[in-house]
Amino acid sequence: MNYNKKSVEDIDVAGKRVLCRCDFNVPTKDGKITSDKRIVAALPTIQYLVKHGARVILCSHMGKPKGEVKPELSLQVVADRLSELLGQPVKMAKDVVGESAQALAASLKDGEVMLLENTRFEKGETKNDPELSKKLASMADIFVNDAFGTAHRAHASTAGVADYLPAVCGYLVQKEVSIMGKALADPERPFVAILGGAKVSDKLNVINNLLEKVDTLIIGGGMAYTFVAAKGYGIGKSLFDAEKVDYCKDMMKKAEEKGVKLLLPIDTVVASDFPNPIDAPVEVETVDVTAIPADKEGLDIGEKTRALFADAVKNAKTVVWNGPMGVFENPTLAKGTIAVAQALADSDAVTIVGGGDSAAACEQLGFADKITHISTGGGASLEFLEGLELPGIACLQDK
Ligand code: ADP
Ligand code: MG
Repeated sequence: MNYNKKSVEDIDVAGKRVLCRCDFNVPTKDGKITSDKRIVAALPTIQYLVKHGARVILCSHMGKPKGEVKPELSLQVVADRLSELLGQPVKMAKDVVGESAQALAASLKDGEVMLLENTRFEKGETKNDPELSKKLASMADIFVNDAFGTAHRAHASTAGVADYLPAVCGYLVQKEVSIMGKALADPERPFVAILGGAKVSDKLNVINNLLEKVDTLIIGGGMAYTFVAAKGYGIGKSLFDAEKVDYCKDMMKKAEEKGVKLLLPIDTVVASDFPNPIDAPVEVETVDVTAIPADKEGLDIGEKTRALFADAVKNAKTVVWNGPMGVFENPTLAKGTIAVAQALADSDAVTIVGGGDSAAACEQLGFADKITHISTGGGASLEFLEGLELPGIACLQDK
């Protein structure tokens, strides 16, 4: 995939109707936004468009309305907040591509901003229905994709619409693609990748691709135990993907053949049960990974492993991290994740963190400002690292 895409700065937007796909999938509680981070992150592109006299038609999905109009998932709350942040009205359409949206779009003046309703109120959105894409395109002259978080999905508003309009990226997508694209295409070495988290099956697939690129691959978190099992040790009640045991064996062999250092936990923090609620006090002990008791569950990397992983990061020039090392939501089980976050913070390398929970961990633990780039996309950043083509980026014009 070509990572060098045209941006809003490479196309004349003055007086043009610009359909801009944002990631306004904000968390809400009782009808109120609990974090406006994603709206704030979208401002640079929107402000650029406004300043240059575009007629700005914003769109996004929020939650999973599954093709039905769900009033509680209306983007009205986003329009209200965005209007405050921009210091100008944001006209809210009552639908996605219906009469209300079309009339508002047609009446927009240069520098004015409107927002379409939740794109997933339309059944055609997630099916990438060409009819919906055409309708979206009919309201605009230019398509801008600034939603990295959904760039791995081929939906009508993320990719399909680009079949009918000149398409470029916004600043958010541009930043993601340039930093991560460079890290993958031409990384400064040593290049170290760290994988963890709970989505074992999803993430195990990334390994094959990463082994082609990295000098060292570190595996912790819930996904590590399938490797431990593949080495023939018992893993008690730890997370396990039985179907991936052979794959893990293949990957260990591939790492050896390629001369990639593959680091797995050497000790692990275990408990009798997964804490419930997740931050409840929990009694733990640290054991060797070769000696996990049958009635225990591995929930964090042990002290020796923390030192091993931190040491492997020390001389790196590029570090990519996706997935916590343990159940970091629980203070007793956060030590492994803290150790890795600290190692990244202390390093002079280009450090990239992807994955919703890994990003949240960096922020909660206070390391966010010491990381080069925290990706806004969980699944998208992972597919990017896997070397897969992201439809929402592939559809944009090359420079
Ligand atoms: P990300 O969102 O960063 O991509 P995931 O969603 O894959 O990461 O995984 C994050 C979750 O993994 C966290 O909620 C964490 O509690 C959990 N986790 C990490 N290690 C373990 C483990 N050993 N056992 C069970 N869950 C784990
Ligand atoms: Mg997650």
